[in-house]
Amino acid sequence: MKKNDPTMSKEKALENRIIPYKMLLEGVSTTHALVEGILPEHGIPSLKIGLENLISLLKDLIQKAKEGLPVIGHHFSFPTEYLYCFDCVPVCIEATSYLMAALLPNGSEPYYDLITSYGHPFHTCTSQKGTMGMTMDGLFKFDAIITPTAPCDNTFASYPFFKFHENVPLILPDLPYLKAEKSIPYYAEQLRLGLEKLGKIIGQEPDYNKLKKAIEIQNKVHEYQMELFELKKVIPCPVENMLNPMAAAAAIFMAGRPEILTFYEKMLEVAKYRYNNKIYHGNEEKIRSIWPYMIIFFDLALCEWLNREMGMSILFDIFNYNFSDPININSDLDKLFHGMARHGLEAPMVKQSAEFYYPFIEDCVHLARDFSVDCFIFTSHVGCKQFGSVAQLLREALKEEVGIPLLLIDVDVGDRRFASEKVIREKIKLFIQTLL
Ligand code: SF4
Repeated sequence: MKKNDPTMSKEKALENRIIPYKMLLEGVSTTHALVEGILPEHGIPSLKIGLENLISLLKDLIQKAKEGLPVIGHHFSFPTEYLYCFDCVPVCIEATSYLMAALLPNGSEPYYDLITSYGHPFHTCTSQKGTMGMTMDGLFKFDAIITPTAPCDNTFASYPFFKFHENVPLILPDLPYLKAEKSIPYYAEQLRLGLEKLGKIIGQEPDYNKLKKAIEIQNKVHEYQMELFELKKVIPCPVENMLNPMAAAAAIFMAGRPEILTFYEKMLEVAKYRYNNKIYHGNEEKIRSIWPYMIIFFDLALCEWLNREMGMSILFDIFNYNFSDPININSDLDKLFHGMARHGLEAPMVKQSAEFYYPFIEDCVHLARDFSVDCFIFTSHVGCKQFGSVAQLLREALKEEVGIPLLLIDVDVGDRRFASEKVIREKIKLFIQTLL
């Protein structure tokens, strides 16, 4: 699979620079057909609406790859919409690994194994290992990759693989650790230089009007997200648990595109209807939980099981409670980039990892109070060493300040071989018994 077949048509060869997106399109389409064919009309709206929009997006990106647009890899903390100042096919390294983990029978496991057998440490983050393995297998052919120097050592230690093993140009805007006002102009300059450098590599000038249009869409999305966030304060929660992974996928794959607006408009409609009619997605909401870190990507059915069998709401995970202010697009370029820098510094995981954990703990305590939460479930992801250090401190803070418990689950959120669905569900079941 490493080399292109010389008889392959040029278009096919171009399209085959993003084979995992073709695999994802198959997986998303099959899941969508099942959702449409098996579930009742009002089954799992977030899944149905999310998959529909993912299909539209993947088809478009595959077509663009076929037309020869450059394929640009990026870390999720380099927001996808920033790449729309170019005509390109953005590929989020982390989101690809985990959407694959969610939708394909063996997920990204063959690719984790490939990169591990090459010598990459097994305990690093699977969000990167999946796409690294796919690239090593010749399934991705990137023209360039851009990632900030954040949020973690895994990112920093894994991305050079693309440069040194795969000869992909790697651009590294330097993201400061210091949470201070002077960090904003510094990171703004880094972002601008990064985009200019990227433009030189792919032979395009950044088009800042197109960038503003993509950001304008995200500003609108921010309004919708805030409305949905407020609605989650209501008992029972008017959105299903599945909204969390689908909103995370939307935030990364669909950012800056019309699909994300459709997704949020429809979800808000559902949430408002349920709010007005006090409808819960399941029989009865018995427990309200926050997952301050990630949910389990290889077992999305867990979301449904918790709603329907356990009466447990997941109000949000880390991708669904970090919001930064809209970016001002009606000013000069300096202000635009300042807004983009601020937004980047507030990104999920960057915000928490690039500083000591006191603000994270404070945020969790406030969220627990504001959203009438009964418990926290902390997935301690094996790759994420820095987050692993905070669980006990958070547990103590929640106990002392709010009087609620925290369940800690050691897991790899993208690889079921570390802790299986069965093990995870058993732990949650036992924990629930202590709450009711
Ligand atoms: S999950 Fe943790 S280790 Fe993986 S990219 Fe995010 S911060 Fe890094």
